[in-house]
Amino acid sequence: MQIHAVPVLNDNYVWLIEGEQRQCAVVDLGDAPPVLAAIDALGLSVQAILLTHHHADHTQGIAAFRARYPVPVYGPATEAQRWVTHPLADGDVINLPQIGAFAAWLTPGHTLGHLSYITDGAAFTGDTLFSAGCGRLFEGTAAMMLASLDRMATLPDTTQIYCGHEYTADNLRFALFAEPENPAIAERIRAVAEAAALGQPSVPVGLAEELQTNPFLRIRTPLLRQAIEVFAGKKISDVEAFGALRRWKDEFDGLSPL
Ligand SMILES: [Zn+2]
Repeated sequence: MQIHAVPVLNDNYVWLIEGEQRQCAVVDLGDAPPVLAAIDALGLSVQAILLTHHHADHTQGIAAFRARYPVPVYGPATEAQRWVTHPLADGDVINLPQIGAFAAWLTPGHTLGHLSYITDGAAFTGDTLFSAGCGRLFEGTAAMMLASLDRMATLPDTTQIYCGHEYTADNLRFALFAEPENPAIAERIRAVAEAAALGQPSVPVGLAEELQTNPFLRIRTPLLRQAIEVFAGKKISDVEAFGALRRWKDEFDGLSPL
């Protein structure tokens, strides 16, 4: 399996998963032309689209793409129904010949029906788990998102995380602000800047590295938890700490609370 990043829109990634005999699947489709061009350049045949969630920057290329490749669209059973031809529930497995098996995990928080796709050695996490961050809580609760990320953390450490946006450098600025004593964050900031200077994506990234640098996977580490509790002004539970961390980052980013 070979996985290609196709940058679309401002900072989205469409992922092309290439299997044997030039068969491929496409994860999310925020825009069609760059993806069609990449498929042409690589000489791939398309088997399926895997959709993580309903937001326009993940779906608005589907119609134009399917005008040329009328392939099945696997996606949430509870959202994006305008596009989804094959709805999936938590735990469903898609078998794509020559490409592989993909388990759909319901990972709500960013949206209520958000799916992540898990395959051997790789996880396509959409807007649930970002490198050094997580999606904003547009529809779900802190408890939902914490459970979704805790579930991701059960994957093997060697799993490569393929997320929906290039947000890593921004996320790391907050990660270092929240956890200034963590040397792994400073190291990753250097690595991401080097990749950016070469025009390379910061992702995929190994889960082991995320567990060392992503504050949203680290709310139970004592120093970060202490810092979150200083922000919140009191001792709090895991779910409250997760929610407080999300609010802290939104404030840091200058975003309105939601
Ligand atoms: Zn989204």
